[in-house]
Amino acid sequence: MTTVASHITAPTPTEKVDTNPLRMRDPALRLNDHYEVYQRPDAAETQREAGRCMNCGAAFCMPEGGYRANDGHAAGCPISNDIPAWNRLVETGRWRDAYDALDRTNNFPEFTARVCPAPCQDACIVGINERPVGIKSVERAIIDRAFDEGWVRPRKPPGNHRTGKTVAIIGSGPAGLAAADQLNARGHAVTVYERSDTPGGLLAIGIPEMKLDKAVVARRIELMQQAGVRFEVGVDVGQTVDPLALHADHDALVLATGCLAGRDLSSAYLPGRDLAGVTLAMPYLEAAAAHRRRGTALPEPLDAAGKHVVVIGGGDTGADCIATAYRQGARSVVNPTRRDRPPEERDAKHPWPGLPGRYALDYAHAEGLARAGADPRLFGVQTLALHPSPKQPGRVGALQIGPSKPSPDTTPQTLPADLVVLAIGFTTHDTPATFAPWSLTPADLATPEPRAGLFVAGDLRRGPSLVVHAIAEGRRAAERVQPHLAAVD
Ligand code: FAD
Repeated sequence: MTTVASHITAPTPTEKVDTNPLRMRDPALRLNDHYEVYQRPDAAETQREAGRCMNCGAAFCMPEGGYRANDGHAAGCPISNDIPAWNRLVETGRWRDAYDALDRTNNFPEFTARVCPAPCQDACIVGINERPVGIKSVERAIIDRAFDEGWVRPRKPPGNHRTGKTVAIIGSGPAGLAAADQLNARGHAVTVYERSDTPGGLLAIGIPEMKLDKAVVARRIELMQQAGVRFEVGVDVGQTVDPLALHADHDALVLATGCLAGRDLSSAYLPGRDLAGVTLAMPYLEAAAAHRRRGTALPEPLDAAGKHVVVIGGGDTGADCIATAYRQGARSVVNPTRRDRPPEERDAKHPWPGLPGRYALDYAHAEGLARAGADPRLFGVQTLALHPSPKQPGRVGALQIGPSKPSPDTTPQTLPADLVVLAIGFTTHDTPATFAPWSLTPADLATPEPRAGLFVAGDLRRGPSLVVHAIAEGRRAAERVQPHLAAVD
């Protein structure tokens, strides 16, 4: 099985984050490598941390706690992890039982323990007046231990009994993987089709390796293969394979192709958008990931080495672009965002137990602070225009910015910009040919089962979201596929 290298676990100088005991490596050091930024939590410290859990009667860290935010979304963990149960088990040293409890609700804790923004911690009742329980660190300690001890086994059906039913899944992101894992464990023959040269979806081709080591993804794919799931990579359904034929050849078809069409700006809105050296985030991150995976050269326009880099957009994708640019050897990185600098603490617009909306340094921003002495984000800034380089007129050379709100100082500023990355969100899927044969509309794609035997899951169904939601989506899709298959002769 793929081994996950020990450098990830090595204790090195630390930067404390507010979710102790999950610590990060020193930003000034980690900038020089691509190893994961998080350190492995210490077992004894984790047990003490788990002991801080109050085992609340109505635990808001789980949706069952009952709270719904104004937008209707439940606060807390979307996959209903029984967090108080594992905290209790970890506190008393019952690691194996804690793993079994975690495994019941989460197919891939090694992914969520690394990349989940942990809405459970935002909703933790302890967090009302002190630091919330470091739930993510407890999850990480449990799953690390489970792999170390050999408790994580291929999830085969009981008695390896096979039903003879077949399922095709298009897209191998966390939604497709979770659906595949669940349906294979029920004894169905599952094949996952993926257009990239590697399975994992954004876990493999989007989220950078310093946030999620690709060996961690490969290890899980191998376990799934050992359990019987088949992966067909390099297959672009709708281009190289006929979706209708796939549907006809299988008893059920799950569409989980993600939400990968990046939001763009027209040159009418952002003059200079068409200059060379201006790109969307996904092509930039995908090229970086492929370069690291295959060892092939980076296309020059997408290489930040020696360049002044501007990342436009203040979300998580923007943060990943910033961190990637530093590691490629960017000369400088700035990140203009229209948003105002958030308050230091929750304000009235962000009541507990929803998202706190307070100022925080993501890993990439901490790295900017270490490298350049300042948070790379420029808050409250509107990008006005991109200007060509005086030396290479077809290429971008500068970015003009101004305040995003009316301000006494309206003097536009100009920043050097040799590479501009637009990380301003995602609009929809990027794969219309896959759905054309059924004439599926956006409303259809938001429906879990728009046609008989055809199921939709993940970001494709709910819009750009999180790994933990994608896992929940995949599990829900499997729950719908199961009765459908039972009814198929
Ligand atoms: P995806 O992961 O997008 O997978 C869809 C897959 O379908 C892709 O592999 C694609 O190649 C394949 N596909 C598409 N069309 C076809 C076709 N026609 N034929 C075959 N295959 C096809 N979430 C977090 O929780 N934490 C994070 O730190 C985080 N960081 C992120 C960083 C970036 C840069 C991005 C873009 C997103 C991040 N997210 C993060 C969001 C998270 O990755 C997604 O919500 C999640 O991966 C969605 O899962 P999915 O299975 O629905 O789709």
